[in-house]
Amino acid sequence: MARYTGPLCRLCRAEQKKLFLKGDRCKTDKCPINKKRPIPGKDPKARTGKRSDYGVQLREKQKLKRSYGMLERQFRIFFDRALRMPGITGENLVGLLERRLDNVVFRMHFAVNRNQARQVVQHGHILVNGKPVNIPSYLVKAGDVVEVKESSKKLNVVKDALKELSKSGAYPWLTVDADALKGTFVAVPRRGDVTDLADIKEQLVVELYSK
Ligand code: SF4
Repeated sequence: MARYTGPLCRLCRAEQKKLFLKGDRCKTDKCPINKKRPIPGKDPKARTGKRSDYGVQLREKQKLKRSYGMLERQFRIFFDRALRMPGITGENLVGLLERRLDNVVFRMHFAVNRNQARQVVQHGHILVNGKPVNIPSYLVKAGDVVEVKESSKKLNVVKDALKELSKSGAYPWLTVDADALKGTFVAVPRRGDVTDLADIKEQLVVELYSK
């Protein structure tokens, strides 16, 4: 599956919002958003004026899509799936995105960001319920156990990422055993639980795609 390979900070600068795409660096003064770097592009001023409804909806969609490191085609597939599910489409969409295996690996602190988590999965370092899964978009279910393969437990990227677990603890919808490098996806998080996306209005994404 194709993925964005350009500079990650540029994506945050385009939204003028921290999307936390890099890990530790995002929490330091080196973050270009902290330095108030301008919107990228030849004419950034042209994009700072009042936005149309469409423009506002588009930006919300880009923020959500980029937060999970997805390109348009796959994001749209996720949206269409959310639309077919019972309940509120926007909340369904966030729930589906949270169930992606690369996201779960990142949330369990087995990788410092979703990009790295995607690589960890693709390179075959992850087991789901004891079986190897190397598909980043694989959807984890409530009760599934996700773990780092025995032969991969010494990987520096995993050990470095795990330091964050002792600092910030596990997300409420996950349990993580840092010694065993193993965790359980206890339940699909409710929208309110995903606090780092609190200011993204997924309803505007629904409105955009419903036109
Ligand atoms: Fe770069 Fe992270 Fe700051 Fe985004 S939040 S601009 S990825 S350092």
